[in-house]
Amino acid sequence: MNKNSSNMMALAPNTSNKRETVCIFGTGDFGRALGYKMLQAGYPVVYGSRSRQTSSLIPKDAEVLSHTEAAQKAAIIIIAIQRQHYNFLTPLAEVLHGKVLVDISNNLKLNQYPESNAEYLAQLVPGAKVVKAFNTVSAWALQSGTLDASRQVFVCGDDMEAKQMVMDIVRAVGLTPLDQGSLLAAQEIENYPLQLFPMWKFPILLSLGLVTFFFFYCLTRDVIYTYIYEKKNFSFFIAISIPNRICPILALTLLSLVYLPGVLAAIIQLYRGTKYRRFPDWLDKWMLCRKQLGLVALAFAFLHAVYTLIIPIRSFVRWRISSQTISQALNNKTEPLDITNAWISDSYLALGILGFFLFVLLGITSLPSVSNSVNWREFRFVQSKLGYLTLILCTAHTLVYGGKWFLSPSSYRWYLPSAYMLSLIVPCIVLVVKFVLIFPCLDKPLTRIRQGWERNPQYSEQSNYIINKSAV
Ligand code: NAP
Repeated sequence: MNKNSSNMMALAPNTSNKRETVCIFGTGDFGRALGYKMLQAGYPVVYGSRSRQTSSLIPKDAEVLSHTEAAQKAAIIIIAIQRQHYNFLTPLAEVLHGKVLVDISNNLKLNQYPESNAEYLAQLVPGAKVVKAFNTVSAWALQSGTLDASRQVFVCGDDMEAKQMVMDIVRAVGLTPLDQGSLLAAQEIENYPLQLFPMWKFPILLSLGLVTFFFFYCLTRDVIYTYIYEKKNFSFFIAISIPNRICPILALTLLSLVYLPGVLAAIIQLYRGTKYRRFPDWLDKWMLCRKQLGLVALAFAFLHAVYTLIIPIRSFVRWRISSQTISQALNNKTEPLDITNAWISDSYLALGILGFFLFVLLGITSLPSVSNSVNWREFRFVQSKLGYLTLILCTAHTLVYGGKWFLSPSSYRWYLPSAYMLSLIVPCIVLVVKFVLIFPCLDKPLTRIRQGWERNPQYSEQSNYIINKSAV
């Protein structure tokens, strides 16, 4: 036990008189970790176990008894045992009658059983008051004290008093209880730890799809075409040139996809003349994962910056510069500085640097620690105004990249335009529509709609009627 925990134990006698004994069934990883925490918080702990033999792993201040004996000593019993072993509780139904049973179990798959583990426990021991809690906290986090990622404990149960008792324990061990309502919420709570980045699925699948598409697009245009028509082997483009084309394309496209649903939502609200009708499901889901889309876009922008920095040390680039210098020397002719080109190239770089800077700023403000410290108006200013400015700068960076060759017929190979031109489609649509939407004739009604005004109030009356009818 570390110094901190022994200090806490020293404080325990002041409070232990007030704390009720808590029983934990099961001396496994979670039972032991929770037992340590509860002893530190001043709760007397008694374990109910199949074996009364104590081991050095079990907290030494806790008693280890049989299940029946342990259950008799406490009003709250935490079941730190897997669901498949719950059958042993049926013969204990009498001794468990009226007790608070805390179900902490998890499953291996989402919706693995027809009913939640907590509801199953309530069926096995009908006289007990079952509360679901602690399942989102890991034994490792409890023991090591690194609880930042999972400080929240979701609690649900049908008996208010029992739920309150469990929430008191949650607070006492330094965690934050979140009341999720009745035991019906248990299935959802049991699914929480099994979800795999639910908000990241769409952005990652979309990025993978776009990366694959643009990889083959660039391969066709830049490697296969030049090999067939110019007899040049540029296959090494696969290592750096093509990725450095894909990364900015993805960064810009995904950034514009962060702002596209907002623009679509505005059009829908203007068309319907109300904000009280639900958006289609796909739009709702899209809006929910905008932060993740933006972060994936930022990752691609970072990669683009890194790839760009190493361009001067590439052997192909060094060869091209030296061969140009040698050919000028051999011809005894120095090419004059093209001021237009110099302007285009410097503007392109400046727009890229500024766009990237604002992109990073947007990413930083989306961090919970930063977003929690700004008010709603500040957050909106950064995410909306600075966000659009970032989109404008990055779109301009890409437009200027095309420079004088933008839309020139020679840039088409097999009728395919350069990949960067494709990346401009969505951002340009978003920026043009947003520009139209800020005209007062559209902005004013939109602002009123968002404040609750309705062009045709029948909609809300109809929906109220439908809601009332279904309630009857
Ligand atoms: P564990 O280390 O395998 O311990 C389970 C305990 O259950 C055993 O030590 C044993 O205690 C008891 N047990 C085993 N078979 C039994 C049977 N047939 N009849 C009666 N008791 C039996 O598992 P754990 O990791 O502590 O997990 C316990 C529960 O907590 C699970 O439901 C799990 O989903 C949940 N949980 C675990 C974590 C975690 O990080 N580990 C996190 C959240 C939730 P005795 O030998 O003392 O009888």
